[in-house]
Amino acid sequence: MTTLTGNNFIAGETSQLGTTTFTSVNPRTKQPGTVEFHNATAEEIHNAVAAAAEAFAQTRTYSAARLADFLDKAAEEIMALGDELLQTADMETGLGLPRLTGERGRTTGQLQSYAQILREGSYVEAIIDTAQPDRQPAPRPDIRRMRFPIGPVAVFSASNFPFAFAVAGGDTASAWAAGNPVIVKGHPGHPATSELFALAINRAIAATGFPAGWFSLLQGATVEVGQLLIQHPLLEAVGFTGSLRGGRAIYDTAAQRKRPIPVYAEMGSINPVLIMPNAVTARAETLAEGLAASATLGAGQYCTNPGIVFMLDSAETQNFIIAYRDKMAARPAGVLLNEQIESGLEHAVAATQARSTVHTLTGGFVVDGDAFSFANTVMKTSGADFAADAALQIEHFGPVTLFVVAASPDELTTALQALHGNLTATIHAEASELDSAKPYFDLLREKVGRLLWNGYPTGVEVVYAQMHGGPYPATTAPATTSVGFTGIQRFMRPVAFQNLPDQLLPEALRNANPLHIWRIINGVNSKDAIQ
Ligand code: NAP
Repeated sequence: MTTLTGNNFIAGETSQLGTTTFTSVNPRTKQPGTVEFHNATAEEIHNAVAAAAEAFAQTRTYSAARLADFLDKAAEEIMALGDELLQTADMETGLGLPRLTGERGRTTGQLQSYAQILREGSYVEAIIDTAQPDRQPAPRPDIRRMRFPIGPVAVFSASNFPFAFAVAGGDTASAWAAGNPVIVKGHPGHPATSELFALAINRAIAATGFPAGWFSLLQGATVEVGQLLIQHPLLEAVGFTGSLRGGRAIYDTAAQRKRPIPVYAEMGSINPVLIMPNAVTARAETLAEGLAASATLGAGQYCTNPGIVFMLDSAETQNFIIAYRDKMAARPAGVLLNEQIESGLEHAVAATQARSTVHTLTGGFVVDGDAFSFANTVMKTSGADFAADAALQIEHFGPVTLFVVAASPDELTTALQALHGNLTATIHAEASELDSAKPYFDLLREKVGRLLWNGYPTGVEVVYAQMHGGPYPATTAPATTSVGFTGIQRFMRPVAFQNLPDQLLPEALRNANPLHIWRIINGVNSKDAIQ
């Protein structure tokens, strides 16, 4: 077993300048851990960002192959942490070993996939428009562009994914793959897990000869740590996963800097599901079962949790809601990540229940006992009331479903039009109702980053085509994704070169195409050299 220090990890060194500490808490027993973790101080935050900027002076010119070697090594070192990593994270989050084992595979898989993408090389998005010296009325210059790393990136770990959206999760993997040093603000819910990751990453840094400032871990259970980090003048971008309140505060602070920087924050989402009438008729039982399984997966603590379900009113709809309520009530309440998640859920549900237009069908309360837990909850309102009350779009981060029942197709359209931005939307429909579902599908496309047909939004594939983002308040940057390999674009900045001599151009843009990558040359995808 590793003896944990409770220290910050700054550019390869452990650091403990502060005097205030916090511990993790086992959510199954509410008992505190034995290791005292030190909140990072202003000096430590400065040291981490300054070391990252120093490291960037070297890594900005590293080849893709060299960056790829580091990513592979990091994945190997994470796996080498073995069962201790799984057990530590399970103790800090209560997520369970099967789920955590899968999440570890996803995390190392992301790093390894980025390594492959780097070795292939086309991720720099080389675009070349060659000169047209004879163009009238004026000649066209030669313009060539590609993407470059942006500089030191701050990543805020999420509470609900201690591996895949944390110290070496998707934001960090994509920032590293782009060629940037990363400073992680660890989530206070799983500091021991974060420390184990830091040890593995530092071993990978040493083995691959990267500069020590390539990675730092700042521990902290106070907003000051994050706030000071974002304000540091040498920081270039921020990746965040968490609450709307936290993400918005970070975004606002970054915008108020003397030199604002981009914040890629993935925040609250209620992930609307629309169930069309024929789908209820054809498969009420499997639909209710599938939806309940998705809504209670991981005790509902997924950003893609299907929190709100739209239906047209009918006897079948009312029967479906009752059957769904019974299924939710029969499922055991899961363990929540921590006290803040439990109290946040309690407040959010209470705020919704306080609206006179909302009826609670089951649940709505904290479950007494050893663990942090909230009863599986089902509530109901009307389409008209939903459309009139923006407060009904609050995120209930847990096993909670709000049904919105519309009396007519027009009322349903009005309710869907009122939706704020979300990560996903889902339609359940039969082939016989494609025409009637299409207008809703078109409408929902304006609201989300990912549209599903006859599926469930939990479970986000890590592939090139993935879009895990959406209009505000789902994110602060709707044109980008935090899952999937185009996520690397967030941490790269395009630069165009006009009329540069070939030998001054980066290899990716040279006439001979020495890297043999895909490029768009005069509008056509090609691996050809330019004659
Ligand atoms: P959070 O409160 O937003 O915290 C996430 C991280 O941001 C933590 O490291 C936190 O630091 C930091 N932070 C929060 N507010 C900040 C501020 N004003 N300035 C600087 N840093 C700040 O999220 P959480 O702890 O994971 O969970 C709380 C709630 O977030 C949940 O109940 C849920 O509603 C929502 N959530 C949503 C998603 C999603 O994907 N949609 C995922 C997770 C959580 P400190 O804790 O040290 O203050």
